[in-house]
Amino acid sequence: MSSRLAPAVVGGLLLLGSLTFATAATAAPRALLPDLDQEAPSSLTVSSSPAGGRTHYFLGFGSAVRNIGDGPLLIDGHRRSRRTRMVADQIVDRAGAPPKLVRGVGGMRYVVSPDHQHWHYLGFDHYTLRQVGGAHRQRDHKSGFCLGDRYAVPPPVLPSAGPAPVFTSRCGLKQPGRMRVGEGISVGYGDYYAANLEGQYVSLDGMPNGEYTLVHRVNADHRLRELRYDNDAASVRLSLHWVSGVPNLRVLAMCQDSARCSARRAARAGARPVARVARAGVIGDRRLLCCCCA
Ligand SMILES: [Zn+2]
Repeated sequence: MSSRLAPAVVGGLLLLGSLTFATAATAAPRALLPDLDQEAPSSLTVSSSPAGGRTHYFLGFGSAVRNIGDGPLLIDGHRRSRRTRMVADQIVDRAGAPPKLVRGVGGMRYVVSPDHQHWHYLGFDHYTLRQVGGAHRQRDHKSGFCLGDRYAVPPPVLPSAGPAPVFTSRCGLKQPGRMRVGEGISVGYGDYYAANLEGQYVSLDGMPNGEYTLVHRVNADHRLRELRYDNDAASVRLSLHWVSGVPNLRVLAMCQDSARCSARRAARAGARPVARVARAGVIGDRRLLCCCCA
């Protein structure tokens, strides 16, 4: 090949390359995926409740998941018969193309209690208290989630964030016959559940003295499509010390974006005690509480 022809050939190859790229881009429009960012457990409290002739203790915590991605988390729950639960699909917005349907990302169930009657998306977030270097662990018993835009992510404002919350419904409140329910979290917003609401606590019964990690993990089974998954867990490291049958808990460290809160990080952070909730009968009350029923 002569040196005079080379630029034309190279130009042709570049043109061919750009056409190939354009074809590929047309074939696969960009998905505007959410990015679920698990925030560290917050508002930790110890509460007590008498039952069966003894006092039981619980660690309560607030939990929050925010969407810092390119598009909203959209959950479409639906069913064909009123005798069945709903199947949940994820709808992914795309740039310059119709939304993409991701089938079967989970299920939805109608939850009934005196003050808690609406549709929950199941398994969105999980809470586990596990002993460091031991086998003891406690899991939450949360009945599910009514996802929504409950708070705005602090500035700087994300490029894809909307000007106002979109998901503000009560998830089919008092409508058990619904055939379809939509839930979600917009970009720039988060879903928050206060400490000691339904499922926002774990039992401390039978947990020995030692150090523990309380882990909050969203989208644990990765069934929801996201931009990234390495920010789906956050944790706090705690020390537990029983004195005369009463638990004393101290926060040793908070670890964003990690399920492992190391002793080294704990040593840097400085311990602070976990507040006690003195209100008697709090367990009985909080079973009736709900994120968004009131
Ligand atoms: Zn609820």
